[in-house]
Amino acid sequence: MYDYDLLVVGSANADLVVRVERRPGAGETVLGSDLAVHPGGKGANQAVAAARLGARTALLARVGDDGHGRLLLDAQRAAGVDTVGALVGGAPTGVALITVDPSGDNSIVVSPGANGRLAPADVRAAASLFQAARVVSVQLEIPLETVAEVVRSLADGSRLVLNPSPPRPLPPEVLAACDPLIVNEHEARVIAGDGLGDSPEDWATALLALGPRSVVVTLGAAGALVAERAGPRVRVPSVPVEAVDTTGAGDAFTAALAWRLGRGESLAEAARYAARVGAVAVTRAGAQESFPTAAEVAEVAAP
Ligand code: ADP
Repeated sequence: MYDYDLLVVGSANADLVVRVERRPGAGETVLGSDLAVHPGGKGANQAVAAARLGARTALLARVGDDGHGRLLLDAQRAAGVDTVGALVGGAPTGVALITVDPSGDNSIVVSPGANGRLAPADVRAAASLFQAARVVSVQLEIPLETVAEVVRSLADGSRLVLNPSPPRPLPPEVLAACDPLIVNEHEARVIAGDGLGDSPEDWATALLALGPRSVVVTLGAAGALVAERAGPRVRVPSVPVEAVDTTGAGDAFTAALAWRLGRGESLAEAARYAARVGAVAVTRAGAQESFPTAAEVAEVAAP
């Protein structure tokens, strides 16, 4: 019996957003709007997305002993995430400093802070969480050696979902554990390098050759493609919606897919559900604020 449907191991960031008329050049100062602070970071986003859908979810992450850290953990608890695995201290909470101009273009500086201090020893100390989790989801906003320790810590029978964002080449040990590896086009290019091929079907073939048990390629408004080693390549259409803000859509998609896989759905079934979750998320502003409940997803027709 598993206590958690999903354990998310990853980052928690405070997103500090200022709207500006023009993004500043070198040496320049511009005045902007009042500061808006939003809970973010891929790990924190995924945990909130899963919990809001009803998944029993735990987060293993590190924040600083500061106001941003408290804001982030409050947002987790408000969504129903178990924060017993949240670690505090070692560095300031990670922040993303974001300026957005009227056309929506942004400039972002990320200070990983405490995310960069989430260490392999923290993963080893959380062995009981790994034993209790049916599915484990991880991304790359924490040190790669920590991600590798997550792979080594998986309980027998539990499943790993990896979204390699921000992307970098991955060691074979990590790639071989992914079931699935979830990538967009940019991430696919970094992971597979040259020889990716032209179509998403080709990308999936190139990625599978690197060792993951399965691959999901997300294609924004064009949906997704799922591929298992021995199986066919299956296209999952998106749900047509009026997108207002795609921030966090990939995190919502990944969390939903991971949860549904743990419930025993096939990769294609889980991706179809995840596409509905992603579709709702893009119709609303923000990241965590935009993630739907299961009841809200139920109102969205299947793609
Ligand atoms: P990422 O943010 O990681 O690049 P995507 O933009 O591909 O991820 O979004 C993840 C999923 O969310 C897509 O596979 C799709 O199902 C859904 N989605 C994203 N953008 C849209 C959109 N404009 N309309 C409908 N669904 C979308």
